[in-house]
Amino acid sequence: MFFIASLALLSCKQQQSQQATTNMTYRPLGNTGLQVSEISIGCGGFSKLDTAGSIALMDMAIDSGMNYIDLYDADPKTRSNIGAALKGRRDKMIIQGHIGTIWADGQHKRTRDLAETKAGFEDLLQRLGTDHIEVGMIHITDSPEEWNELEGSPFLDYVFQLKKEGKIKHIGVSSHNAEVALMAAKSGWIEVIMFSLNPAFDRMRGGTIPWDEGAFDNLQAGIDPVRVEFYDYCATHKIGVTVMKTFGGGGRLLDAKTSQIGVAFTPEQCIAYCLAKPCISTCILGVDNLDELAADLHWLRATEAEKDFSAPMHNQTAQGDGQCTYCNHCSPCPQGIPIAKVNELLDKAERDGLTPELQAQYDALAHHASECTHCGSCLTRCPFAVDVPSHMDRAKKIFGK
Ligand code: SF4
Ligand code: SF4
Repeated sequence: MFFIASLALLSCKQQQSQQATTNMTYRPLGNTGLQVSEISIGCGGFSKLDTAGSIALMDMAIDSGMNYIDLYDADPKTRSNIGAALKGRRDKMIIQGHIGTIWADGQHKRTRDLAETKAGFEDLLQRLGTDHIEVGMIHITDSPEEWNELEGSPFLDYVFQLKKEGKIKHIGVSSHNAEVALMAAKSGWIEVIMFSLNPAFDRMRGGTIPWDEGAFDNLQAGIDPVRVEFYDYCATHKIGVTVMKTFGGGGRLLDAKTSQIGVAFTPEQCIAYCLAKPCISTCILGVDNLDELAADLHWLRATEAEKDFSAPMHNQTAQGDGQCTYCNHCSPCPQGIPIAKVNELLDKAERDGLTPELQAQYDALAHHASECTHCGSCLTRCPFAVDVPSHMDRAKKIFGK
């Protein structure tokens, strides 16, 4: 399958020239006709860097042969930085932009409200400096009920209208839920699905831990049958699957102390694990800066031994859900608490000890864990079963407010 994807690419002149200078391999994005780099870039770094830093990050991504970017974040800074970084070279990146996200009161918000959705999407195009994006990704649909509510909704009518107008070329959906992802795949109108996948999620979510010793003969063994059906359906019906949380979310899988299955993987092992599935088009990598991207680009030079993920698979232990991946999907908090950032600082303080630097970062937040009213609204939006109110209690205890 790897070879077939690579050979298909060789017919494309532009990508031929990219391959002359990089070792990037390209894969079909389902039936869209697009060829995408097998590793691609997320938007997180663009929210943390200034414009010059964003341009440098985009330079490195494009020079490496990456041609695909996910932009879920509605933060105006993120969108504007990516727009600036793509100025004069819009054709170098296939943009997977999310529909149904807005920036409200300084926080990211998922929405299905039509007026908000329209405003959010127009803002996206305007800040990117483009009149279209290639993949219009319906932002996070994580329950069958939410999926069913989409059908016939004004929100979905708007998505179809965008496609008719050419403002989006293909329709996608993002989900952390295999049942929803399978429903979307079978809908007949979804062309791309962004799905949370890594060696841990396949084992934790309806799968078996520890790893079945015989499973290397069949990489689908021991995985939730719904996930297996989803992967197989997408491969058979040529629906593009783009991977989020490649490294476990917030890089959790790269450290045994934070890994959801108790064992550390390297970036190369995580990527190799995902790309071993024929349905996968690209692994989207969350990077915060140039150093992280440079480290991840070792993938292009990695040996087969470095990609071999069998050793950590043998050593995994059950831990499971409940750990924050700092994804921000639970936002907005009515109290304005930046939940992902509080959880990130809390995890660091609990793992490595509270340092003056961590305390200073916490103190600088506009709102703190002590403001949590235990309203529970974040719980309904967290795909990873994180008990946020209890995390806020722990943060208040450690940081003092
Ligand atoms: S439970 Fe606490 S952290 Fe969660 S949304 Fe409510 S106030 Fe915010
Ligand atoms: S609490 Fe859940 S939704 Fe919120 S940042 Fe953490 S993992 Fe993401």
